[in-house]
Amino acid sequence: MSTTSPELRSRSLLRTEAQTRAAALTVHDVLVELDLRDPAADTFRSRTTLQFASTDQESFVDFQGRSLLAATLNGEPLHPGGWQQGRLPLHGLQAENTLVVEGEMAYSSDGEGLHRHVDPADGRTYLYAMSFLDAAPRWFACFDQPDLKASYRFEVDAPADWTVLGNGPSAAGAPGHWTVSPLRPLSTYFVTLVAGPYASVHAEHDGIRLGFHARASLRAELEAEAPDMVTVTAQSFDYYHRLFGVRYPFGEYHQAFVPDFNAGAMENPGCVTFRDSFVYRGRATELERGGRASVIAHEMAHQWFGDLVTMRWWDDLWLNESFAEYMAHRCCTEATRYPIWTEFGIRRKHWGAVADQSPSTHPVAGNGAADAVAALQDFDGISYAKGASVLKQLAGYLGEDVFLGGLRAYFERHAYGNAEFAELIEAWTAAGAVDLPAWAEAWLRTAGMDTLDVAPAPGGTSVVVTGPGGTASPRTHAVTVGAVDATGTVHEVADLALHDRSAPLAVPADAVLVVPDAHDATWAKVRFGPDGWSGVARVLPRLDDEAVLVVVLNAVRDAVREGSLGAATALDLVCGSLGRVQSEALLSVVLGFAASTLAGPYAPVGERAARLARVHAVAREVLAGSPPGSDRQLAGFRLALASASDTGLLQGWVDGHDLPEGLVLDSELTWGLVRRLVSLGGDPSLVEQTLARDASSAAAVHAARARASVPSAAAKQAAWALLMEPSDRSAYEVYATGEGFWVAGQEELTEDYVRRYFAEVAGTARFRSGWALGRTAETAFPALAATEQAVQRATETLQTELAAPLRRALVDGTDQLSRALASLRRGD
Ligand SMILES: [Zn+2]
Repeated sequence: MSTTSPELRSRSLLRTEAQTRAAALTVHDVLVELDLRDPAADTFRSRTTLQFASTDQESFVDFQGRSLLAATLNGEPLHPGGWQQGRLPLHGLQAENTLVVEGEMAYSSDGEGLHRHVDPADGRTYLYAMSFLDAAPRWFACFDQPDLKASYRFEVDAPADWTVLGNGPSAAGAPGHWTVSPLRPLSTYFVTLVAGPYASVHAEHDGIRLGFHARASLRAELEAEAPDMVTVTAQSFDYYHRLFGVRYPFGEYHQAFVPDFNAGAMENPGCVTFRDSFVYRGRATELERGGRASVIAHEMAHQWFGDLVTMRWWDDLWLNESFAEYMAHRCCTEATRYPIWTEFGIRRKHWGAVADQSPSTHPVAGNGAADAVAALQDFDGISYAKGASVLKQLAGYLGEDVFLGGLRAYFERHAYGNAEFAELIEAWTAAGAVDLPAWAEAWLRTAGMDTLDVAPAPGGTSVVVTGPGGTASPRTHAVTVGAVDATGTVHEVADLALHDRSAPLAVPADAVLVVPDAHDATWAKVRFGPDGWSGVARVLPRLDDEAVLVVVLNAVRDAVREGSLGAATALDLVCGSLGRVQSEALLSVVLGFAASTLAGPYAPVGERAARLARVHAVAREVLAGSPPGSDRQLAGFRLALASASDTGLLQGWVDGHDLPEGLVLDSELTWGLVRRLVSLGGDPSLVEQTLARDASSAAAVHAARARASVPSAAAKQAAWALLMEPSDRSAYEVYATGEGFWVAGQEELTEDYVRRYFAEVAGTARFRSGWALGRTAETAFPALAATEQAVQRATETLQTELAAPLRRALVDGTDQLSRALASLRRGD
């Protein structure tokens, strides 16, 4: 039998459906047989045999093939006509059942399901599977929900020169025939497969076999980067083993760096997939290596938080993400050579703060996601950065013994199963936590940010807490109050458990600025009292304390967005002080903000070039003041080229003239220069010339970004077609096209596309879904168009029917536009 699904769109699983199915079914063993021998074909054959018990007579299995070839339940053929919206109904279930589903499945090009990439460097084909969040049925039939774990065996036929990896140990029998053996029970969302002529580096640590894999064209880069990654992986295993009291349970540990990957990485047990930009093609700085270390440590933390103990339903996804984020930062800082709390503060916390003040904000925990697609929208800065900050507070509140004691008991009790928020609270309470439900209600189940401000008080200075919108806050903040004197020296004033308003604090007489959270320890907006910004202006050029710098610079950015600090004033503060800052994280992020925001939507169109020139001058100051060959020099150069307006200067750098001493122009820097140069009206054929010398897939992405930046009607039209119409381009090229499209200085040329964006974006849901749909809408959003008309169009579009990922992208984008417009209206 061969049937093509009459309804291509699958239906998102409702939480209530998941509960009913989990109550009835127990899945034992799953065998997946895949025929991948012809990687040039559009489809592959997938045959799944599921052994499961049922207490109900009726249920359904998820299957999203291109066609259904055969299906039998307990040996009886199933009627193919029932297959609708990605579900195949099952009738007459018995106590024990065998279900076989065979179909023709489509390879994906959007990074979900079984993704296929042909490497332009050598024409070889690479596959990897991404089952998250509900993409597993795109490559095998399954009961797709986190709490129906099963044991998986894979039998895979592939070309003879391929390597096949999965969650369990894999081995080739006959040439090209691979078996991936079951090791531990797995949830569907983290079942994976990596297959292709991958290059590999192996190592071993503490009895765990480690594998690192990337496309063959990245072999040299993989080999160069492997020692650092082996070290970080080994140190992280030691750290987590010490902390969690349960050893890593999934056998070998493979880390595969795969093409076109949407997220940073995915925590598939035993076989983590990463975006392959982590295998650096150009020179990478310590900040970037630290960022990679944090992703490695994050996915390793998931082996416990998520993989060993899995949330029952998606609304508890903070049990995965907040913990992995928090643990990774602790682990890197305490166990590796990458101290990364500064980067967390300036980049990740700002990301979370923007989300927590957007109309789309939600509590960290218990969002009650009604279906799987709704849950995907909560993978944002709240679930990651806010959740991690809150856990940092919790660890301090409970003390290390109770915090870790509770976690260990939780792992032991729920190993290889599923758990909920309440069960973790129970474990902590059993370990000695007091009043935890009230604490959790205030921090984890209440959305929005408190504000910590400074106020004069009789006999001193008080720190005052207010909740969102000026309400009373139920939260208590553990903070250290600091005072900064005119030399930029920070003095600790008091450690507080702050609720409502502190008692008057004795602040040193020479204090110029009082900082309510000098260690950047809590989750709150910080302000500095009635004359706070003048104090900031005085101390900022002399401040070296990184935690205080993070707090002050986050407050500057937040106050601009909130409307309590003018963008021009903020630019003065940033440009007057950043040139001497040493931290690469602070430099890159805050000067990046100045260029993209203060000189972008928050600047009147006529002033954007002049403001960008000021940012460029600071970047040149950084460049001139950095030792040759240093990371700081490289960071300064990147900022300088991105903010340059002098095509002669850029052309000289492209040609290798006048480069700063010690700076080597690698392919990544070259692409940065080319993109900026063509966006300023430089010769667009430079893109194709550069591409002719660099045939990698990374180059194809750079070229897409650069082409979209070219200031001509034809270039914009071609780029627009890629964004709004179906094509065979990789998702990365589409995102890069969105990133390159809107350029300050091209407002007139792109004006009509603002209207077109809102008219056309809903239509992209016809041919994109999931990550790709939301991410494309986000990158193509006209963020520079801070006009009344654009905000009105955006608001009208939001009143129409929109797919969930589009709605989220538009809600957030519109909020940003409205804030910029309000700032422009105030004219400050
Ligand atoms: Zn994660």
